[in-house]
Amino acid sequence: MIVMKFDAPSIGSFDRLRGVAKLVLQNKARKPVVVTSALPKVTDLLLETAQLAAERESDYEDKLQEIETLHQEVVEELLRDGPARRRLLAHVKELMGELRTFCTAVYALEELTPRTLDAVAAIGERLSGEIVAEALVQEGLRAEVVDARTIIITDEAFGNAAPQMAEIGPRARLHLKPMLDTGIVPVLGGYMGATPSGVTTTLGRGGADATAAIVGTLLEAQEIQIWTEVDGLMNVDPKVAADAQAIPSVSPEEAAELTYFGTKVLHPAMILPAVERGVPIRVCNTQQPTAPGTLVTASDPTGPSGPRAVAYRKGITVVLISQPKMLMASGYLRKVFEVFERHDTAVDLIATSEVSISLTLDDIENIGPIKADLARLGEVKVMREKAIVSLVGRGFFRYQGLARRIFEALAGVNVVMISFAASDVNISVVVDEGDAERAVHSLHREFFSEIAAEKPAS
Ligand code: ASP
Ligand code: MG
Repeated sequence: MIVMKFDAPSIGSFDRLRGVAKLVLQNKARKPVVVTSALPKVTDLLLETAQLAAERESDYEDKLQEIETLHQEVVEELLRDGPARRRLLAHVKELMGELRTFCTAVYALEELTPRTLDAVAAIGERLSGEIVAEALVQEGLRAEVVDARTIIITDEAFGNAAPQMAEIGPRARLHLKPMLDTGIVPVLGGYMGATPSGVTTTLGRGGADATAAIVGTLLEAQEIQIWTEVDGLMNVDPKVAADAQAIPSVSPEEAAELTYFGTKVLHPAMILPAVERGVPIRVCNTQQPTAPGTLVTASDPTGPSGPRAVAYRKGITVVLISQPKMLMASGYLRKVFEVFERHDTAVDLIATSEVSISLTLDDIENIGPIKADLARLGEVKVMREKAIVSLVGRGFFRYQGLARRIFEALAGVNVVMISFAASDVNISVVVDEGDAERAVHSLHREFFSEIAAEKPAS
């Protein structure tokens, strides 16, 4: 079997839905399980609606109407007037009724708990599941919605619930296997789950990918396909370099590095279990279904080494702490990091010399108190508006001449910090925000343009 997961843009209109149905039909022989996101914007709208109701803003009712209309319009485009359309519209009404009840209660009580918010959010995927299943039926497939909450058992961490794999495995086999064996395509709304006692939960934003990964891993799928509107993981931001290309294959480690830089296609936490069980994950483009996309598989330690992508992230702050007394002292780093822990702030890159430490932060909400606490440990300098530019790849430790090529490529750019050797899949430099695109461009040209490909790797 395979898992085919479709994101919101892929199911956002009649044409898109037809395209999706055709793709599923083409893969019928591979016994697909379909996992779907909510329709575009719907999850955001649902969360906003509940929030408005909790704040006793009566416009929440307009939002409810917007959500209802949006789904009705898709149904009306998809189906001509007849029993199927009437059945589906009735179903939309029923779920909207449930949503209204939730929101009325939130409004009346002026209270929105994470538990209620999950019940509200799950409506998006419960609605889209019905619509996608109907689109498949229209294409001649035997498709049936399976309520993901009967399979995806989670803990009670509402809003970001953890799947209980030991509970899910038997349920997935029990509910889905017989369907697959009799040629039925099960359609699951992604993102949602339920506690063992049946209370609705969600797996966190973007969680439909997780649903696909969980089901594919536990049913030992031949492949988990994540269908989206990009060609896969790109080797550079297409906005920076016109010749950006999809990376044919990445290891989970490389995918994790790229995720930090906003390649939001895959979350590392869901990739690992699949890859460990030997289930490949492929990111595919609904607009270009025949393109190979990006395959995520376990890395081959003897395979070719070298850079695979250039990524960047702006809005970075560098903190530099220097303290001559640090020379030969022990326990100093602990004191520094305690400050960041105390202020609940994640540190990304770190570089040290004998008497100073540089590190980067994304989140500077608490920079004031952090600076004050660090000032007790040494001299502190804060540099804002920086960017991290990273070369991501594999086997960097055994790739000769890498540093020379990087620094030659960055000759015209002022580098304020370097982090290398934390892993052999990433080398990062910190530059001024205004230099980020130029740095990315130069690195991309050095390592990925045709001319570079012809250069002998030294
Ligand atoms: N619909 C949910 C969200 O927008 C889950 C997903 O699409 O992955 O976060
Ligand atoms: Mg997504």
